[in-house]
Amino acid sequence: MIKVMKFGGTSLGSVDAMERTASIIGRDGAKKIVVVSAMSGVTNSLIGCIRDRPPIEGVLASLRDRYSSSAKMIMSPPLFAEYGEALDSSLDDLRIVLNARWKVAADPLLDDAISSWGERLSSLTMAYVLRSRGVDSVPLTSEKAGIVAQGTPGNGSADLDATHRNLRNNVLPLLEKHTAVVLTGYYGCDEHGRPVTFGRGGSDYSGSVVAYGTDADCCEIWTDVNGFMTADPRAVPSAKCIEEMDYNEAAELAYFGAKVLHPRTVEPVRRKGIPLMVKNTFNPEARGTLIRAHKTNGGDVLTSVAVKCDLSIVKVYSSEIVYQPGLISRLVGAISDAAVNTYAVSTSLSTLAMVIPTPAVDEVLRRIDSLGEQQVEKLTVKGNVSLICCVGENLLNVQGVSARVFSSVADIGANIEMISEGASDVALNFVVPSDKAMDVVRKIHSTFIGG
Ligand code: ADP
Ligand code: ASP
Ligand code: MG
Repeated sequence: MIKVMKFGGTSLGSVDAMERTASIIGRDGAKKIVVVSAMSGVTNSLIGCIRDRPPIEGVLASLRDRYSSSAKMIMSPPLFAEYGEALDSSLDDLRIVLNARWKVAADPLLDDAISSWGERLSSLTMAYVLRSRGVDSVPLTSEKAGIVAQGTPGNGSADLDATHRNLRNNVLPLLEKHTAVVLTGYYGCDEHGRPVTFGRGGSDYSGSVVAYGTDADCCEIWTDVNGFMTADPRAVPSAKCIEEMDYNEAAELAYFGAKVLHPRTVEPVRRKGIPLMVKNTFNPEARGTLIRAHKTNGGDVLTSVAVKCDLSIVKVYSSEIVYQPGLISRLVGAISDAAVNTYAVSTSLSTLAMVIPTPAVDEVLRRIDSLGEQQVEKLTVKGNVSLICCVGENLLNVQGVSARVFSSVADIGANIEMISEGASDVALNFVVPSDKAMDVVRKIHSTFIGG
């Protein structure tokens, strides 16, 4: 039995959290691959450093302090001394990367190397914390494991088959010798061995990729809430934990804003039918959420509602756009070439509307412009919109449900800017002004789930 357990930033964020995490990992003797994020706040501060370029020794000292102050409280002095040497050696490597980066104006691959450093320090630290509790464990970087990444720096994805081959050769033999292999989340390496991160929150995706690559029996995502909930509990305090979901539901919600899972987490485990669990490090006795191909319980009308913020609607006007051969595909192609996610598309006789992340708007306009399409008459941008994603397996096949959803939106006085219904079997998505989005989520939640 191989188990993959991914622990997020808060599960490593303090001495107490690290001890809880270690006791969860060590509570049975089963072999496990532990995938770790940076300690909470560390990735943000590394990304901030890339922007602000503070003195390098200060950056290294604060990282050393953040990690070693927790480690010191947990480890025996001899083990702590050994750990300290390994920590310093990792920070020496970071010094080299920072020096290289500070010399150039921009380098997205070096940025990814720097922003992934928290995961390297976490893997090292957690392996020593486990050793201090008698769990035979070894740290491992994505480079050494052979997690192969492709695509854009900052938003890469894994080459699953190449990773599968590498993990079988590099990780499974280690697991025969040790109880736990503690692996860095968040990034893989391109064909030249350079780190490419999987986007913010990417360690969940790493967990799923590693489960795929080792043919694991299950993949557990350990975080700071009891499981996948009916809404973000920070926005909807009455949100309830969902016991079971199917892959489709979880994938839609994650893609459209449920931060508990990175948007692409579901796909690797779904391909091999590996069950995905979401569990709470701070309440391990809670059942958590089981995500797999089929649910055993009958679905509620609404399983959960998520919101994706900071979006804009880009509208292209061209008379009879739908009859112009290839124009729509060239426009959509220009956006996908820029590696921009399009969250919704809608056409009318003379317009094409696309919902994209606001930070990508300038680049998208530039690319559309550079197509030099004579037929494009006008381009407009409407910012400050959010996409609400309602998911439930019966949402689209029970009559009158959409009407109830939209009447909840009307109760809030929010204008619906765009609707995307029917594209997915389980989701009803629509766009509203951002200042009304949270009220809409709360209203829909109280209408369908209660609280
Ligand atoms: P980690 O550091 O463990 O990866 P994250 O902060 O990335 O944790 O994700 C957990 C957070 O996701 C929760 O604290 C919660 O606020 C948020 N969240 C958003 N939507 C949901 C949801 N539907 N169910 C549970 N948590 C959610
Ligand atoms: N540490 C990374 C981030 O903050 C990855 C993760 O937490 O999953 O985005
Ligand atoms: Mg996360």
